Amino acid sequence: MRVCLATEAAPGHVNEDFVAATADAAVLLDGVGTPPGSDCGCLHGITWYVRTLGSTLLASMKHDAAPLAEILAHGIKTVATLHEATCDLSHPGSPSATVVMLRHTGDAVDWLVLADSVLILDTGDMADPIVICDDREAQVGAAYRARMDALDASSPEHVAAHREYVEALRAHRNRDGGFWVASVDPLAAQQALTGTAPADKIRAAALISDGASRLVDRFHLATWHDTLDILDQHGPAELIRRVREAEHSDPEGERWPRGKAFDDATAVQVTM
Ligand SMILES: [Zn+2]
Repeated sequence: MRVCLATEAAPGHVNEDFVAATADAAVLLDGVGTPPGSDCGCLHGITWYVRTLGSTLLASMKHDAAPLAEILAHGIKTVATLHEATCDLSHPGSPSATVVMLRHTGDAVDWLVLADSVLILDTGDMADPIVICDDREAQVGAAYRARMDALDASSPEHVAAHREYVEALRAHRNRDGGFWVASVDPLAAQQALTGTAPADKIRAAALISDGASRLVDRFHLATWHDTLDILDQHGPAELIRRVREAEHSDPEGERWPRGKAFDDATAVQVTM
């Protein structure tokens, strides 16, 4: 695999996305941050969580031919044991993340998607690309976001409404009927979307955090097909530049109401 990647924190923030790749595997995690004034029960914090889980997963993918969901379950468990003695892992806001994993194993490509990061598979023909995204969080969240979306995204009221939104969603996290993310419960891995395709049927793939996919799924300024073209012709940094340009054109979220005016953005382009 040939891999190109770019990742950029929201302006003025620490990057809570994690991305890493080897010659035959790629991993992207998007950490669910703790809003100002909220608690998470963990001394380490979200950047530690995504870095530790992401590197654990990548190491296992290189040496382990086990199914990706099994590797993810094992990774969640491993990271939980690293901080169960110091942190309150029963806290409803304990660090959590979306996960995308892609592995090339000779004649096949395996993938896994948990929560709302996006995997695009380019089959190289004229058909639309295959887009894999688990949008259960957005479905659950739709009932809670009206107040937040009505407020100016740069106002203190919006910050408070976003905190309330995140805390309301915690009640639905990793529960049947809710949505599933990587956190402390290995069972979440069973809820991931997974698949395998013959390697010769996949020309390229893109792993994208929701901070970058918003160009398509929130701003509607590009299609998934356009996204593959941007990655092909200009690379991942250009995709993120276009997202930032759109965000700067609507800093208060009037045109595109959203929880975060700017978000960490990551894009990985994989060519087989
Ligand atoms: Zn901790």
